Amino acid sequence: MRVYNFSAGPAMLPIEALTAAQSELTDWGGSGMSVLEVTHRGKPFVACAAHAESALRSLLAIPDNYRVLFLQGGASAQFSAVPMNLTASGDKVAYLNTGQWSAKAIAGACAQDLDVAVLADEKATSYTTVPSEGSFAVPADAVYLHYTPNETIGGVEFGYVPDSAGIPLVADMSSTILSRPIDVSRFGVIYAGAQKNMGPSGLCVVIVRDDLLGHSRSTTPGILEYKQMAESDSMLNTPPTFGIYLLGLILDWVAETGGLAAMGERNQAKAQALYAAIDNSQFYANPVALDARSWMNIPFTLADPALDKAFVAQAEAAGLTNLAGHRSVGGMRASIYNAMPMEGVQALIDFMTDFEQHNA
Ligand SMILES: *Cc1c(COP(=O)(O)O)cnc(C)c1O
Repeated sequence: MRVYNFSAGPAMLPIEALTAAQSELTDWGGSGMSVLEVTHRGKPFVACAAHAESALRSLLAIPDNYRVLFLQGGASAQFSAVPMNLTASGDKVAYLNTGQWSAKAIAGACAQDLDVAVLADEKATSYTTVPSEGSFAVPADAVYLHYTPNETIGGVEFGYVPDSAGIPLVADMSSTILSRPIDVSRFGVIYAGAQKNMGPSGLCVVIVRDDLLGHSRSTTPGILEYKQMAESDSMLNTPPTFGIYLLGLILDWVAETGGLAAMGERNQAKAQALYAAIDNSQFYANPVALDARSWMNIPFTLADPALDKAFVAQAEAAGLTNLAGHRSVGGMRASIYNAMPMEGVQALIDFMTDFEQHNA
């Protein structure tokens, strides 16, 4: 039995892609081997990686002057790799702090000898808001502006792309990439760990504008260095082959189900349904400001936290898993990424209504 898995990551993946992988797991493309066993330098795997890249380019309409890199170390490696690739010692860099993932990115920059300017910090609202558009000034001498479009733990999402005043905009899109169309040309660097909307953990996709290659510090390890990775088609060393393969299958699924515009409509409808259920009840509450509510990660609390354990246990018994909130936040969190169907969200809403009737 497949459950509705509300995990924040690694997260639910589309059954179509999993079944496709299963059907060819022991004999991939007539090779007599699984994709896990073939050399990454051989024609079949090189074609597989090229397919994943072209499918991503097509879905996101990535302009030709951007490179797509398949890296390792998760999104977290990019907290260090971004400053290593873009800055020299003593440079100024700018960050927006909207929660725990932004904070980790900021810590990555602070660990290097940089002048780190935090232009906005939503601490005063306990990170339930995003800075309003135009409320912060970007220093002209900063090398880049970094932000986290969707804070996976707090369930806080920007409803707009910040104006970086001409300097490169860097975005950690781990928990929002492929959830709707975006204009890639607004960004200098986009990076995303795969395990929310794109595939298995361990793979990190980096989309970087050409002119930002070749500015790294000499101490940057090759496997984190954008130019070397671009020039070697992300095969400076053995790439995460299975992750790249599965990414290709998942991107095919996104295309077959209507692409990003249709995905965005479905994701918005799913989120609206769940927020409406929370808002229309006296029993459940979501702390996030209306204009900053995430489509992907929806935290909510119960009127009496003493009921949390029973909620999680009964939900699990009903096939609705991984609803406990992040260990630092408590309460509940429903992550409803691309692979979560509306039926799963409706099943959660029905369960919540029932639980409230029995416990309010
Ligand atoms: C999950 C997540 C990360 C961390 O990803 P890893 O692959 O575990 O390094 C970073 N940023 C955001 C926004 C995330 O959701």
